[in-house]
This record gives sequence, C-alpha cells and structure tokens, in this order.
Amino acid sequence: MAKPEEDIGRVVIKDGRYKISGKFHISEANQPIFNEDTGKLAGVTNPRDMTYIHTYGGEAIFFESVAKGKLMASRCDNDKCAFKGTIHEPFRIYCPDCLRKATPIDITEKARKTAKIHSYIITARSGAFNSLKLPIKFINIEFEGVSTILMGYLSVGEPEMEMRVVPIFNTKNPTYTIVDLSWVPEGTKESELPEGFTF
Ligand SMILES: [Zn+2]
Repeated sequence: MAKPEEDIGRVVIKDGRYKISGKFHISEANQPIFNEDTGKLAGVTNPRDMTYIHTYGGEAIFFESVAKGKLMASRCDNDKCAFKGTIHEPFRIYCPDCLRKATPIDITEKARKTAKIHSYIITARSGAFNSLKLPIKFINIEFEGVSTILMGYLSVGEPEMEMRVVPIFNTKNPTYTIVDLSWVPEGTKESELPEGFTF
C-alpha cells in the first residue's frame, strides 16, 4: 500500500540517537473469512503493514560503497590468526577464524578482472516482496584469492558455468540494499545496463 509522503517512515541519527518520523505501523480493519458453501465463519484476515528499522552496523560500509560503485570485502589482518590474510566476500565484520575485527578492503578491480560464475539457478517464481525482474538469474560468483562465494544476480544475458562476469552498481538512484549490486557478462556495453546502473 502506498503511503502519503508525510506517513513514510524515516529515520535519521542525530546527536547519537535514532530520530524517527512518519508512521511505522499502519492499522487497517481486518476482514472476516466466510465459507460461501456453508455460510459459516472460517476465520479473519490480519492486516499488518509494518516498517522495520534494519541497522547495518559494521556492514554499513559495504552498502554505502555499492551505491558509490565500489565492492568491499573483508580481510583478516590479525598476526595471531592462523588464517591471516584470508579475504571474505560477502563482507564479514569479524574474521570467523579468530573472531577479531576484519579490515574492509576494496575488491572492485579484482572483481572486474577475475569474477566468474561458480554455479547458478534460474528462479521463475519468487517470494513476496520480490523487486527483481522474473525470471531471476541467481549466480554464485567466485573471485581469485577470495575464500568464499558471493550470491548475486545476472542482469544481462544467460548464465553459464565459468562465465566471466563484471559487477554493476545502482549508483544513480541507490536503494542501499543488496539489489544495488548486480552482474553482467564481461564485454557488456554500458547501453545494455538496467536503468540507474553503471560499471
Ligand atoms: Zn582471523
């Protein structure tokens, strides 16, 4: 349900505190569910329209960077860690091996030069609240020198195993969510990118 502009739930942080404005819970009358075959009551609907405040914490840098056309990963720089130097993508705030804070690093160039499809799945039916175009071409992406695989979606062409892909970013009208990051086959032209996306 679209809300009037003044009712849209908004949050800012000022003087170290969350300040909220607008409506975060919209009430709407429930409706009875009648069995038309018997005329008897079977139940009620429970309308719930809620705006959830999702704080990114230490992952905020990842989403802020995507909106600026940069792909951030994290690397463990702890001398005492048996796996020092390991790079994780998706971004992890803490090293899973030593539990120390990892260092955010920019892997945009590495992704442009080495990203390839590890596996993929095409989804014709999505769940509720999906904002991506159907069918969704979900791809698992591997990068040279990165120990984990990133889940993403292909915006142009058809996925193939081992296909080289490059990242694209919704820099023109970012949502600051993971759908701002997408992938296209290497060699795709700028004019073929979805609206709002840049290399
Ligand atoms: Zn570590």
